Amino acid sequence: DPRLAKIASSIRVIPDFPKPGIMFQDITTLLLNPEAFKDTIDLFVERYREQNISVVAGVEARGFIFGPPIALAIGAKFVPMRNPQITGEVISEEYSLEYGTDTMEMHVGAVQPGDRALIVDDLIATGGTLCAAIKLIERVGAEVVECACAIELPELKGRDRLGDKPLFVLVSSD
Ligand code: 5GP
Repeated sequence: DPRLAKIASSIRVIPDFPKPGIMFQDITTLLLNPEAFKDTIDLFVERYREQNISVVAGVEARGFIFGPPIALAIGAKFVPMRNPQITGEVISEEYSLEYGTDTMEMHVGAVQPGDRALIVDDLIATGGTLCAAIKLIERVGAEVVECACAIELPELKGRDRLGDKPLFVLVSSD
């Protein structure tokens, strides 16, 4: 698809951020290019519009950018998967980062048994973040149909950590 090259070239790579040796994939430059941003959303919408997805779960923070336009276009509800700070009753999962751990939370009742969920984030690295999101959704009896990211860092083998959950990505970054 010719749109993919344009998307890939609009992602800025910031070497040695946030620490030496890391090539940070910065999607804010993609957002500055309305054509590439629209193509990104369109590619996801084309894939998911006929799949009876009832909930798009967006992972903080950049899943909050890509998730809502996809949810609106396919007629699904949007549920934020947040690091602790939401009010109200939540369920939570702790997950490992490169250094230390973090926690992801989801409102109780936002996702219901029988919901068909698409999980959206900007990027998969080790897969720990998406794993936590999958666990939260499955704990409430819903089905994770697929995880979708704009970017995959294949060297980190995050895909393997998702087990049998399908992962769809637009751009691979070696
Ligand atoms: P993982 O849990 O797969 O190791 O890390 C993925 C999470 O970290 C995602 O929520 C993603 O936004 C963030 N992340 C890790 N590395 C990068 C990067 O190079 N660029 C961006 N935009 N996000 C990153």
